[in-house]
Amino acid sequence: MSTRAAILWGIGEKWSVEDVELAEPGFGQVRVKVHATGLCHSDDHAVTGDMPTPLPLVGGHEGAGVVEAVGPGVTRVAPGDHVVLIFQPPCGYCRNCARGRSNLCLNASLQDYGASKPFKARGQEVAATGDLGTFADVTVVSERCVVKMGKDIPFNVASLLGCAVTTGWGAAVYLAEVEPGDNVVVIGSGGVGINSVQGAKNAGANLIVAVDTVELKRQKALEFGATHAVASVEEAKELLAENTDGRMADAAILSVGVGDASKLGQIVDLTGPAGTTVVTSVSPFASTTVDLNLALFTLSQKTLRGNVYGGVQVHRDIPLLLDLYRQGHLKLNELITRTYTLDQINEGYADMHAGKNIRGVIEF
Ligand SMILES: [Zn+2]
Ligand SMILES: [Zn+2]
Repeated sequence: MSTRAAILWGIGEKWSVEDVELAEPGFGQVRVKVHATGLCHSDDHAVTGDMPTPLPLVGGHEGAGVVEAVGPGVTRVAPGDHVVLIFQPPCGYCRNCARGRSNLCLNASLQDYGASKPFKARGQEVAATGDLGTFADVTVVSERCVVKMGKDIPFNVASLLGCAVTTGWGAAVYLAEVEPGDNVVVIGSGGVGINSVQGAKNAGANLIVAVDTVELKRQKALEFGATHAVASVEEAKELLAENTDGRMADAAILSVGVGDASKLGQIVDLTGPAGTTVVTSVSPFASTTVDLNLALFTLSQKTLRGNVYGGVQVHRDIPLLLDLYRQGHLKLNELITRTYTLDQINEGYADMHAGKNIRGVIEF
């Protein structure tokens, strides 16, 4: 069938919205009418070339929609089901899935990220970000890439569970392992970081210090549960020292748009003894040198962790997060600053770069 999608043809180019051919769902695949997709910074890493991805590429890895058709062998969902789309789909039986690390499923390797090619445009095959390609009216994905949800959940908020909410929430709850009374600092309070703020709040944190250079994001962080919001890492360091008798933060979560390895030491310095630093930000792949006082790191028994999907187990956590949303414990509507049409995608990313959005969402 024919549909419309936003394609990236080359590094540094704009998204091109055009007609594409979409394959029929094959064995184990489903066709999904996409209703909403978030404008995540990760897709922009493909544009800048910070993150190597196959090109040309239909972007988008944060979406929700309705199953339209299913291929042979599909058993988990049926046409008409409302679903959240997920990248890194767990197989359920590999070593990592079996030990509760399904976000690191060995059969959904990020090495093959975007390897499936359901789209065709200008006579050539086009890859799909995260094997999803949600910057399209309609897409074809593995049935493992969908999690069924209740029909009471609006698509625009559901789409954010595909990346921003899970990645940010999990950074605080599962990776930093925030406990009641912990002091937490979140550096970068955009669409992902602000969910670390509300994750820390739900986990019972004492101080939650949000750091962002953008006034709107500091304001929003306070609405989402931050106890303090400051504009720089230096201010956060002073504030933590004063308010913790020098014990500093139990957890620091780095979620700025693009990570900078040369500044990692300053982030780790915000934590005290046995503190954990979670690096959510994706840094340029070419950047490999970290500036960190390793002796102090060792002698204060600190922890440094990466972040894939917030360490969440999607089949447990997406229903859990939706329940928290229904009860009013999780703010999702408030994450969406502005909605766009697919044709306005480049405007949406320009707004993201200008710091205007907590999250921009494309609605179809
Ligand atoms: Zn994302
Ligand atoms: Zn697995």
